[in-house]
Amino acid sequence: MTTHAPLEDAPPLVMEFDQVALTYPGAPPVEALKPCHLAVRKGDYLAVVGPSGSGKSTFLNIAGLLDVPTQGRYLLDGTDTTALREADRTALRGRRIGFVFQAFHLVPHRSAVENVTLSMLYAGTPRRERKKRALEALHRVGLGHRAEALPIRMSGGERQRVAIARALVARPSLLLCDELTGNLDSATAESVLTLLDELHRDGMTLLVITHDPVVAARAARKVTIRDGVLTETESAA
Ligand code: ADP
Repeated sequence: MTTHAPLEDAPPLVMEFDQVALTYPGAPPVEALKPCHLAVRKGDYLAVVGPSGSGKSTFLNIAGLLDVPTQGRYLLDGTDTTALREADRTALRGRRIGFVFQAFHLVPHRSAVENVTLSMLYAGTPRRERKKRALEALHRVGLGHRAEALPIRMSGGERQRVAIARALVARPSLLLCDELTGNLDSATAESVLTLLDELHRDGMTLLVITHDPVVAARAARKVTIRDGVLTETESAA
């Protein structure tokens, strides 16, 4: 078992898996994620890689508070999420985790700024503040000039930037990206990865789930999942 001595001046822990595992019930049960330990600190940039069926989605669902492990504890910003009621877990997810998916998931007939603003609707942010923050987030991803454009008139790369702005606007602790370049050509993917590099430099904590070695190579730490076994394979630290 790994012990994590508190490093002096180490950035705070954002997420910690303490013997986290998930077994899907059935005959036979599927041990989709076997007991694992993972510590992610503020400002870390992690890639999670593995072949199809290895357990990546299971990992993503747990890390993103979309599913609860059947074993172990998952601490997010020091809160034991496995002890929370469903409503509290949902609220924590909205405040602390920004999601970016392969398929963008934008509302096609709402402008870029409206798409980003919509994500703050339930967070209790006043209307004027919502618009201001949405515009700031769009500037942050290099789309200040496209704020009024509709997603249907945008390129794939621009749409993914809007989705990233939407994920960032709540100022999450963790940006969770699932195959974020899967729908992009390689030049566009490169520009989105450059944006992630910039966010990393600004101190954002990034967790990128991918089967693409080009995407994984950008991250400072690499975690591999194979048959439900999670192993840290490389670390730049
Ligand atoms: P990946 O995202 O890497 O393709 P998954 O996390 O989706 O892998 O799946 C890991 C394993 O768990 C696979 O063997 C898959 O068949 C199984 N699995 C996934 N979801 C369920 C489920 N809801 N019920 C039973 N088995 C599942």
